[in-house]
Amino acid sequence: MFVDKVNITVRAGNGGNGVVSFHREKYVTNGGPDGGDGGRGGSIILRADPNMSTLMDFRYKRKYVAQNGSDGSGKRCSGRDGEDLVIRVPVGTLVRDTATGGIIKDLCDSEPFVVAKGGLGGWGNQHFATPTRQAPRFAKSGLNGEYREITLELKLLADVGLVGFPNVGKSTLLSVVSKAHPKIANYHFTTLYPKLGVVYAAEGSSFVMADIPGIIEGASEGAGLGHDFLRHVDRCRLLIHVVDVSGSEGRDPIADFEAINAELESYSPELAKRPQIVAANKCDMVYDPELRDKFREYITGRGYTLFEISAATHQGVRELVNETARQLTTLPPIAVFEPDYVEVMPEIASIDDLNITHEGNVWSVEGEWLEHLVRNINFSDYESRMYFDRSLRNSGLYDKLEQMGIEEGDTVRMYNLDFEYWR
Ligand code: GDP
Ligand code: MG
Repeated sequence: MFVDKVNITVRAGNGGNGVVSFHREKYVTNGGPDGGDGGRGGSIILRADPNMSTLMDFRYKRKYVAQNGSDGSGKRCSGRDGEDLVIRVPVGTLVRDTATGGIIKDLCDSEPFVVAKGGLGGWGNQHFATPTRQAPRFAKSGLNGEYREITLELKLLADVGLVGFPNVGKSTLLSVVSKAHPKIANYHFTTLYPKLGVVYAAEGSSFVMADIPGIIEGASEGAGLGHDFLRHVDRCRLLIHVVDVSGSEGRDPIADFEAINAELESYSPELAKRPQIVAANKCDMVYDPELRDKFREYITGRGYTLFEISAATHQGVRELVNETARQLTTLPPIAVFEPDYVEVMPEIASIDDLNITHEGNVWSVEGEWLEHLVRNINFSDYESRMYFDRSLRNSGLYDKLEQMGIEEGDTVRMYNLDFEYWR
């Protein structure tokens, strides 16, 4: 079965711990602190791969964990960084936050995207020597890697989507106009995977066409296959609506045409408004010319562009392709979804939960929510920095530090962050 939506969990690697160690050498007494830092934990990275067309690989593997950073060691040796874990997904995969459904990222190009950041390594005691504390007996532990529950949802990137009942000739048409080789058989539901093909039109222009598995009646209420597949035409700029007008299967082309449009409408009214070109197929074996003529009248009467074609003999196919390419030049580009996921900032608990220690003019502050806050702030972004500062101020931390005797210019140390204290 085709898989185009899946929930997975990703856990980035934890940072390695810093260590406590002292320089040892013959004839040298009281060597200085030389404990190295822990390595950074590996991150989880998503990357779109044009060679993948489904989310099948995720069907059995749902948990992804990146490597932890190694602990530091003596002689100022840093621990090894954990390896990043790169997860490949098909182009056009939408990454959502599972809990809220918010869009985190639309993976439309091959730019790698860090979905869970590895934890920073802790500092070894080499960093903690001060004039008054020459033999620091402490080091810091690494930060935990980020953990996320995400939903991957595939929305193919195609300019043109083929829609129509099963067996009307969509796969045949795609194979004729492009180098794609979809399964073709005189059998309903042969297409279980959407297939993409590049179509070259006149004047060197090209576009991507998607063969969407047959939409069947009632599909938009979840009755059959079609419902899931409709999301693949979401991004299409234009639809080619293929109808069998031969009468060979005893179908009524007008009723078929309306049934598919009703499906599109109930799935998404916006999709139903997408420009459509109608391809009346199987014109090489028309059993009932009256049926075909009525259809022509009906369609043109409603203002659609109609092409009478035969995917089997290629009659009319060139004209259809050229007109499609022409219309595409007048349409907006393929939709890319903007992220709308809002990161929930950690709840500020009580300052009583914080562990404050000081040695001389260095003040160390640690605590669970603070760790979370430090990790999630982007310090190169002004807004985030302001948020960070506000959070600390509102928590009452600065008042508490004042009570404990902090002075302007002292160092405040929070995990791997050091800053000078100014009122
Ligand atoms: P799909 O389900 O819409 O993808 O339909 P297929 O492309 O798999 O075609 C269904 C059947 O119709 C196959 O047996 C094709 O060979 C046949 N077919 C497709 N196009 C034509 C056509 O233009 N003329 C004739 N005679 N048969 C066709
Ligand atoms: Mg097919």
